[in-house]
Amino acid sequence: MEVQSIFPRRTTRQVMVGDVAVGGHAPISVQSMTVTRTADVDGTLQQVYELAMAGADIVRCTCNEVEAAEGLARIVPRSPVPIVADIHHQYRMALAALEAGVHCLRLNPGNIRKPEQIRAVASEARDRSVPIRIGVNGGSLHPDLYRKHGGRVTPEAMVESALTEIGYFAEVGFDLVKISVKASSVPLMIDAYRQLAEVTDHPLHLGVTEAGPPPAGLIKSTAGIATLLAEGIGDTIRYSLTADPVAEARAGRQLLESMGLRERRNVDLIACPSCGRAEIDVVAVAEEAMAAFADREIPLQVAVMGCVVNGPGEARDADLGIAAGRGRGHLFVKGRNAAVVAEDEMVDALVEWAELIHADGPEAALSRVDTEKAEREASRDRERLLTEQGDDVDDASTRIESIRRRIS
Ligand code: SF4
Repeated sequence: MEVQSIFPRRTTRQVMVGDVAVGGHAPISVQSMTVTRTADVDGTLQQVYELAMAGADIVRCTCNEVEAAEGLARIVPRSPVPIVADIHHQYRMALAALEAGVHCLRLNPGNIRKPEQIRAVASEARDRSVPIRIGVNGGSLHPDLYRKHGGRVTPEAMVESALTEIGYFAEVGFDLVKISVKASSVPLMIDAYRQLAEVTDHPLHLGVTEAGPPPAGLIKSTAGIATLLAEGIGDTIRYSLTADPVAEARAGRQLLESMGLRERRNVDLIACPSCGRAEIDVVAVAEEAMAAFADREIPLQVAVMGCVVNGPGEARDADLGIAAGRGRGHLFVKGRNAAVVAEDEMVDALVEWAELIHADGPEAALSRVDTEKAEREASRDRERLLTEQGDDVDDASTRIESIRRRIS
C-alpha cells in the first residue's frame, strides 16, 4: 500500500527482491541481517523469523563459506521474507548463493575487484533475474580509488566505485541493481547518497555503517537515514547496530512509521516527560508498557502520562492513554475518561483496552463502560492534586522571588 507522506520520493527504477518491490514508489522496506552462522540452518531461520516479526521486510545472511551456501539452500525455501546473501572477497560464494536460490546478492566492490569475476557473477544473476546490491563501504574502498582521491574516503570516490561496478554489470547486460554508499561518518554518507541520487535512478539502500551500540548507534543511523528520507532519497533502509538485530529491525520500522512513510503496524507509545506533578515513575511505566506491546501488532497511539491534572488533555489525540491519579490510573480513550484502575494494573489495562479498541473500535469499547463515572473520578483526583500541589507544583515562584531579590 502506498502511504501519503509529506516527503515527496525521488523516482527510481524498481527491482524485485523476491516478492518485495524496492524502488519505483514501493513502500520503503526495512532490512536487517542475521548474526548467526548461516550454516546453522535452524538457528538462522529462527532469527530470520524474529526479524520478520520485528518489522524486517528483507533479511541478509552472510555467505562466507561453502557450508553457508548449503545452509542458504535450506533457509531460503522456509524463510518468511526474501533472503539476501552477503558476499565478501570470494566471487565463487556469490555463484554458490545464486545456486542456493537467494533473492538478492550484496557485493562489495572494494573487495571483489577482478572485472572478469564481477562480470561472471552479474551474468549468472542476469540469467536468474536476481538483483544485486552494490554495497560500497567507506571503510573498504577499492585501493585505486582511495589513491586517486587523495588517500581519503570521499563522497566522490564512493560514488565512482558504485558507477564503475554498474559499468561492469552493463557490459553483460545486467541492470537489476540497488546501491548503497555507506560510511560510519554521517556527513560523509549523506553527501555520498546525495551525489549518487543526482547521477543514477537505481533504487538506493540507506544506512550508516558500523554505527555502534545504542543509543549512539541509533542516533547516528537516524540522523543519516532520516535526513535523506526527508529529501526523498532512499528506497530501503538498514540500521547497523552493535546490538540484537531485532533492535535494528524495530528501529527501522519505527523510523518509517514515525515519518509517515509506512503504515503504522505496532503501537506508537508516547509518554510525558514527567515533572513535579508526576504521581508515578513515568519512565518505568512507559518502559513496562513498551515491553508489553513489543510483539503485539496493534496500530494505535498509546499514551502514558504522569498525572491526571494535565495528562488527558495533553494526550487527547492519542487513541488510548493512562494518567496517574492518587494511587490509581485514569484510563482515557480519545481524550474521554473510560475507567479507573489500580496503579499496579495500569499497563495490563492499557494492553486489554488496546486489544478491545483494535478489535471493535473506540466507540464500541466506550459503550461498555460508565464514562460519566470515570470522568467524575478523574475530576476528583484532579481537584485533590491541585489542592495538594497548587498551581505551582515546582515552587518556581519562590525561586523567582529569590532571583528578583538578588538582582534588585
Ligand atoms: S502529564 Fe502531568 S506529570 Fe506529565 S509532564 Fe504533564 S503535568 Fe507533568
